[in-house]
Amino acid sequence: MPKKSKLATPDWILKGGKKPEKKKAERTFKIKECPKCKSYEVGIIITGEECKGGKCDWECRKCKWKGANIIEKELTEDEFMEYLDKKGEILPNEDELKKDFKKTIESADSEDIGDEK
Ligand SMILES: [Zn+2]
Repeated sequence: MPKKSKLATPDWILKGGKKPEKKKAERTFKIKECPKCKSYEVGIIITGEECKGGKCDWECRKCKWKGANIIEKELTEDEFMEYLDKKGEILPNEDELKKDFKKTIESADSEDIGDEK
């Protein structure tokens, strides 16, 4: 079964070219936060085998906290921008963030966005 073509013209273009605003408001971004000092500077500890059991440990680069019960937050787009501002130039999880960011956008807009990159 062929998947729905990614290059298909989005409905909103066919219907007059106005991009729906509703989707944008619903867009959320997932971030991780240190449960101890509330820093966003957290990263996963790659321990190989232990991670395969579904339990991955996290560490905070700020207060050195280590554990599995990382706080996950869902932010709106505005909150996410604020969060990026707060992070400033320190982006220890940049690759992961981009992944989450992309994933979130794709899942939110998969019906409407065609070949946007
Ligand atoms: Zn911390």
